[in-house]
Amino acid sequence: MRRLLQSPGRASTPPQSGIKTLDLHCDTMKIQDIRATTVTVPLEAPLRHANGCHWGRFVRTIVEVEVDSGLIGLGEMGGGGESSEAAFRAMKPYLLGADPFRLEEMRFRICNPTASLYNNRTQLHAALEFACLDLMGQHLGVPVSEILGGRVRTEIPFASYLFFRYPNRDGIGEARTPDQLLAEAGRLKERYGFTAHKLKGGVFPPEYELECYRKLAAQYPHDRVRYDPNGVLSVEDAVRFGQAIEGLNNDYLEDPAFGLAAMGRVRGLVRVPLATNTVVVNFEQLAQNILQMGATGRPPVDVILLDTTFWGGIRPCIKAAGVCETFNLGIAVHSSGELGIQLATMLHLGAVLPNLTFAADAHYHHLLDDVIEGGRFGYANGRIRVPEGPGLGVRLDREKLKHYAELYRELGGYPYDRDPGRPDWSPLVPNDRWADPADATRPEPLT
Ligand SMILES: [Mg+2]
Repeated sequence: MRRLLQSPGRASTPPQSGIKTLDLHCDTMKIQDIRATTVTVPLEAPLRHANGCHWGRFVRTIVEVEVDSGLIGLGEMGGGGESSEAAFRAMKPYLLGADPFRLEEMRFRICNPTASLYNNRTQLHAALEFACLDLMGQHLGVPVSEILGGRVRTEIPFASYLFFRYPNRDGIGEARTPDQLLAEAGRLKERYGFTAHKLKGGVFPPEYELECYRKLAAQYPHDRVRYDPNGVLSVEDAVRFGQAIEGLNNDYLEDPAFGLAAMGRVRGLVRVPLATNTVVVNFEQLAQNILQMGATGRPPVDVILLDTTFWGGIRPCIKAAGVCETFNLGIAVHSSGELGIQLATMLHLGAVLPNLTFAADAHYHHLLDDVIEGGRFGYANGRIRVPEGPGLGVRLDREKLKHYAELYRELGGYPYDRDPGRPDWSPLVPNDRWADPADATRPEPLT
């Protein structure tokens, strides 16, 4: 903490009246370069979801922001390829020479709300904000969470995040039947120590997924459970599902139907708390949720799932958490699929939220590798420790970055919103074109 009070390389100002001050002068650092590298990292097995599938790997774009002192801040964004790399390069004219400490300036420079009608750069901004926060922390010699209000916890609990899965190239890892799903839950609990279990649904008919969910809850009666069909149930199916799970040890029912109005209708007929990462992902929508609470006495959504990418950075999530604290809405940390850099943003976010009462979500344990030094983060008792090094506390493993960038160039992207096992299928919202749980067809080895 000493270095927080005295920036390196500068003479400290003598404290006045014994009060130490933080020297937040302009031109602390100057951004000199922005680089983006798309990588693809394999998963244990393809993850099925309501809109399609993660075809056996994640595609992510790693962002490096370099300043005049030689420090490099790291960011990460989902998806990638030439368009993402070019989109980050296109931010150079806006940000070269800028001070990474000036985060509000950066927000309005590249995410001005009216200019954003022409160019939505929220996710680009998020990755750049991560990198700037990383630079600030490195410069001051403190973890990002110490800049963002200070940590109130040192480790973050996670849920198991169970997916229905296709078998992998070796023919293993399938989760389709209730027995397979429960076996997978058991493996994850034993290996990582999870005490909360999230079932990602919206793949098979609701009554089938209800059976799976009930069996999951029965297998771990002392653990918490949550179900997320990604908003594809009709309101009526969502109500049926929600009423059927009352009495289980639910954290919440996540995005049972799509749209704030649909969630409001479900809310009126279901007593289980409702959560979202789809229909409240900005401050306008958060305001609408609260205004409807004022009008009806009940919010359409009880628990707001904060995603450091969807909301445009760690700091907007903290602001949103403050609004939720004011109105006693719940919050949790959302996962949109992450490698270690993005996971670090989730850990620092979770560390500083006093009103965080739910386990976080992470796809992370489905990954086989990472691009950060030291390999993947480890879990203990279902928790991951918040990094303690300066900045985000993670550094790039250059060999891994190169290897997985080459793998991306070899394999290219994959259509996240297509199901390799159902090539003629396209998803509807609300959906009624469910996959057949008896269909054990194994798609061709996925790339
Ligand atoms: Mg969700």
